[in-house]
Amino acid sequence: MLRHIAEHGPCARTQIADAIGLVHASVAALVADLIERGLVAEVGSAVSAGRGRPRRLVGLVPGRVRSVAVHAAWEHVTAVTADLAGSAGRTRRMRTTHDPFGDSEALADGIASCVAAIDSPEDGVHQGRLVIALSGPVVEGAGGALPGPARPAAHLAQLVAARLPDLGCPVDVVSDAKAAALAEYQALATPGDEQPHGTVAYLKSDAGVAGALLIGGRVLEGSHGLAGELGHIPVSLDGPVCRCGATGCLTTYIGTRAILESAGITTRIGTDAALTELGRRLHADEPFAVAALQRAGDALGAALLSLTGVADPTHVVLGGRLAEWLPWLRPGVDARLAPRRAVFPTFSPTVTPGTLGAEAALHGALIAGRERILTDPATVPKLLADKGPEAGAGRSADAG
Ligand SMILES: [Zn+2]
Repeated sequence: MLRHIAEHGPCARTQIADAIGLVHASVAALVADLIERGLVAEVGSAVSAGRGRPRRLVGLVPGRVRSVAVHAAWEHVTAVTADLAGSAGRTRRMRTTHDPFGDSEALADGIASCVAAIDSPEDGVHQGRLVIALSGPVVEGAGGALPGPARPAAHLAQLVAARLPDLGCPVDVVSDAKAAALAEYQALATPGDEQPHGTVAYLKSDAGVAGALLIGGRVLEGSHGLAGELGHIPVSLDGPVCRCGATGCLTTYIGTRAILESAGITTRIGTDAALTELGRRLHADEPFAVAALQRAGDALGAALLSLTGVADPTHVVLGGRLAEWLPWLRPGVDARLAPRRAVFPTFSPTVTPGTLGAEAALHGALIAGRERILTDPATVPKLLADKGPEAGAGRSADAG
């Protein structure tokens, strides 16, 4: 019900009842509960057609519940707050020097100080969720430290929460590819179009290659949180050895290092300078640079062809540097997909660049936080102290 109000704006109880299929009495009771939690309020009235009696409208209370989103990337941590209506509050970006595959304690220090810089307690404002979108491999559901480079999500969440004793809300850690995929998915929707776009695959390349699969608007986790990790689809049986230990992974063809090497550009000048040089050569039609991207496009097309057999996506969205490189990747991709199109004339997945750029993961973390609050609004304490057992919990309880 809260989601309906959040997505449709102020509406009457009867409209809510019709839309979600609950009887009016239940809607009235639940609206009363949401009002007690300060999530919605009566915001005016509208004259109903026919009977003439004005219907009172309920809408979201701006600023009452806030979620905090963090993008912990390789060289910086960015934090932003927003309320349920999407109004953004403070933003803070800090440069960090941590090794993304290194010490979780140091990473937690960086994240916590960035959050502390934007998160000051305010009367009547409840902190609903902190969602951290993290670059690098994330293992969902793992509580303790693990051998190997993958970071256990729950363990990092505990370390961050321990450093922010006043936070008072759950902390979630997700992969930044999954967060970015969610945000790019929402950006695909055209205004007024409520139908989810079938299956969407997202793939990005920045410091590493990572991806996600969305089905009906939800991130597919798979049995081990590995679904959609397209970067490690093997595209050759005897290709280069990947950082993950396997051979011939897509990453070893479309990763930054692989492409720069294939284009004959040294990284000794620094990765950023090397990438600028690659861009210059591509725009100048330099044959080695163009051939490097064509080879990468060929590998990407092979991976998408494999993906077709598993998930049959309608859209493939490319993020990070893949979005910039798409014009040069496309011939290779199209050449690989052409035979499938010849057999199945209706087979037409679109391959497009993401529209949110480097902000995608941060947007996605905000969306994830908002979704979790909308799914369970009872986690927001009631405003009046005598209204229920939760009322004493959380720092916003004395705001009533
Ligand atoms: Zn790999």
